[in-house]
Amino acid sequence: MTPSLANLDGRAVLNFGASGSADVARASAGRFGPSCAAVLDDWAAFLAWSASVDPDGAPLEVARLGPPVPSPRQVFGIGLNYREHAEEAGYDTSGLPQVFTKFPSCLAGPVATVPIVSPRLDWEVELVAVIGERCQRVSESAAWDKVAGLMVGQDISARDVQLEGRSPQWSLGKSFTNFGPTGPFLVPTESVANRDDLHISCRVNGEVMQDSRTSLLIWNVAELVARLSSVVTLLPGDLIFTGTPAGVGNRREPPRYLGVDDVLVSEIEGLGELTTTFATEPS
Ligand code: ZN
Repeated sequence: MTPSLANLDGRAVLNFGASGSADVARASAGRFGPSCAAVLDDWAAFLAWSASVDPDGAPLEVARLGPPVPSPRQVFGIGLNYREHAEEAGYDTSGLPQVFTKFPSCLAGPVATVPIVSPRLDWEVELVAVIGERCQRVSESAAWDKVAGLMVGQDISARDVQLEGRSPQWSLGKSFTNFGPTGPFLVPTESVANRDDLHISCRVNGEVMQDSRTSLLIWNVAELVARLSSVVTLLPGDLIFTGTPAGVGNRREPPRYLGVDDVLVSEIEGLGELTTTFATEPS
C-alpha cells in the first residue's frame, strides 16, 4: 500500500490509515521533509522511498491535521467547470475555463471552523490537484505525470463579495480566513483508482447538496494542467481547485446559506472527507 501524506503540526507524516503513521524526516533520517513543502520539492524520489516505509506511530487523528500543502506558491481556482453548475449559475460553457486564485492564506485543514463574514456564505466541494514538479507547456498526455496527488477541497465563497462591483471579485470573495479547507491527506495519484471518475459530494447537516462525478468536469485535470502551464510555470505544491458541480446554496430555491448551526461535510471517493463548521466572528 502506498501511504498518503499528511501535515501534523507542520511536519510531513505518512498516513497508513488504521495501521499507523510515520514522521517523514525521522523515518528517512533527514533525507525528506521535515515539511510537506520540502517533500513536494523532491516528490519522485520521496514516492519511491515511501513505498518501503513501515508505520512506527499511532494512527492519525484527522481533527489535528493541517492542510497537506499549507503554503503553496500558487493556487488556481477554476470556475464553471461542470456543465450543470455553469447552467444553474447562468453561464454558457463554451470557450476557456474561468481562472481565479484563492490567496494561499485562506487554506485550512480537514476539520476547520469558518468565520461567518457574510450573510451569503456558500459551499463548493471540489477535487484539488497538487502539482509535483516544476513544469511549463505540458502536453495533455504528459499532464498526469506532473500531478503529485489529489485531495478534497472546499471553495467556500462569500457570494456578496464575489459578485459585487463592475467586474466580479472572485478571488477576494473566496479568500477570507479558512475559506479553503483541504485534505485530509494528499493521496498520490498512483494510489487513486479511476482518477478521472470519482464520486464527489457534500452534505449540510446530513442533507445531500452536491452529488456528482469528476468524469463530468468540462476541463479535466490533464486539460487544466496543459492549459494553465501554457501560460504559467507550475511549481511543486501548486494547487488546482478544479471547479464545483451543481447544487450550490445561492442557486437553490430558496437560496440556502451557511450559518452557526451548520455542519458541512465534503467527500470524494478514495480521498476522504472534510468537516467544516461556522462561527460568528468575535466583535
Ligand atoms: Zn469553486
